[in-house]
Amino acid sequence: MRAGAKSIIAQFKCWLRDLLDPPYQTAVVEEYLPPRLRKRTLYIVQDDGFLEQAAMLCPCGCKRTLHMNLIPDEHPCWHLMQHEDGTATLHPSVWRKTDCRSHFVFRHGRVQWCHSVRRGIS
Ligand SMILES: [Zn+2]
Repeated sequence: MRAGAKSIIAQFKCWLRDLLDPPYQTAVVEEYLPPRLRKRTLYIVQDDGFLEQAAMLCPCGCKRTLHMNLIPDEHPCWHLMQHEDGTATLHPSVWRKTDCRSHFVFRHGRVQWCHSVRRGIS
């Protein structure tokens, strides 16, 4: 009984989180990124079925495009997992060493910050 109630509360929290903070969509594109990237979208660039890179607008709001290489022969390289619910996970974390210094884990279409980011301060 108790476990059932906890499960319902957990489901409600998930539903509320998705409503208030929906996960990033995944968009697979051929060869090239569109000239303007949409917010809250992870782009996967593929060429002839080979995954080349993942790209997204920096989630801190600095409007920079982040490029994550997916070609195993090149470094650094990220591992991409696409999930049945349409979201994706990138491994390892994404860490900008310059400018905004965003450092986050991208998991199931969600950004999990690795440390506090000075958002809104330039
Ligand atoms: Zn940024």
